[in-house]
Amino acid sequence: MVNSSLQVQGRIVAAFGRQYLVRLEDGSEMLCLTRGKKSEVVCGDIVEIKLTGEASAENGAQGVIERIAPRRSLLHRSDAFREKLIAANVTQIIVVVAAEPSFSDELLARCLVAAYDQKLDVLIVLNKCDLAEAAAAARRRLIPYTAIGYRVLELSAKIAPAPPHLKNGKQPHSQEEGGRLPPLPEGGRIVEGVDSLRPFLAGHTSVLVGQSGMGKSTLINALLPDAQAATREISSALDSGKHTTTHARLYRLDATSSLIDCPGVQAFGLHHLSFGGIEQGFVEFAQYLGQCRFHDCHHTHEPGCALREAVAAGKIDARRLELFRQIAANKA
Ligand code: GDP
Ligand code: ZN
Repeated sequence: MVNSSLQVQGRIVAAFGRQYLVRLEDGSEMLCLTRGKKSEVVCGDIVEIKLTGEASAENGAQGVIERIAPRRSLLHRSDAFREKLIAANVTQIIVVVAAEPSFSDELLARCLVAAYDQKLDVLIVLNKCDLAEAAAAARRRLIPYTAIGYRVLELSAKIAPAPPHLKNGKQPHSQEEGGRLPPLPEGGRIVEGVDSLRPFLAGHTSVLVGQSGMGKSTLINALLPDAQAATREISSALDSGKHTTTHARLYRLDATSSLIDCPGVQAFGLHHLSFGGIEQGFVEFAQYLGQCRFHDCHHTHEPGCALREAVAAGKIDARRLELFRQIAANKA
């Protein structure tokens, strides 16, 4: 019997309408409700819940969320009309782009601005590097990003993780496994599989973002083979799957690392940020900010614009300034 006055701590791992799936410290998961109508609880939140003891017949909830712990970070996207919380307490954002189809560098730039705003580590994953020619073109488009210090990890989500007995320097196995390719040398490069991503996840709550088609689901499936089946099960039990494509889900990787998948983040609205916030999110602009002739320079056509001069001098990538203008003009 559960003591009905007991308060326990947990972490929100999924939201289904007004019901939240909370993982407790012992690893068990339970459905909880919030008090009142409007809820500001989001995936990744650390919450205190009061156990209600018995599952109510109506909704199966076993607890009530009493309190949300202060957040280390909060990711949201917004347009002029509304703001939507995506995930809380994230420490790293992983932007998944692919060799093909061609990725949106505007979405990438938006993610980096959001990451700067919330002081998150950033990792750019270039997926589908088994497609050598397309990968080379994508790699070229990422040069402005590596040049200003962003980490880019190249891999192929289709390459099978090495089985444990073949790790430690032994030859990778050559057998195909469930449609996955063995590691392939492409254009002189050894293309790594998802295992190469694991060290970057350690100690982090990482959020995975990417436009559709970049291979995010394939990546998550390879990292957490059981995860998506489990999500489908819960979703079908709770809401026949109708919300599942727009809700974030937190997966535990090990004691210190977890991964948040947020499907449907195709556009990263930054309406909640100021013009200055967007300027700062273009990290290579830092040394030029405040150097323009006009203090309210928009860096579009004004004479004496330090950013335009930096582009002309080859110090700032022209496409990055163009993306800045695009995002500043249309934040949402
Ligand atoms: P999502 O929309 O980002 O979740 O993308 P999916 O995981 O559904 O992948 C989109 C398509 O790309 C699918 O046809 C995948 O099989 C394919 N794909 C994913 N990863 C790779 C990869 O590393 N190499 C190749 N060649 N194809 C991939
Ligand atoms: Zn300027």
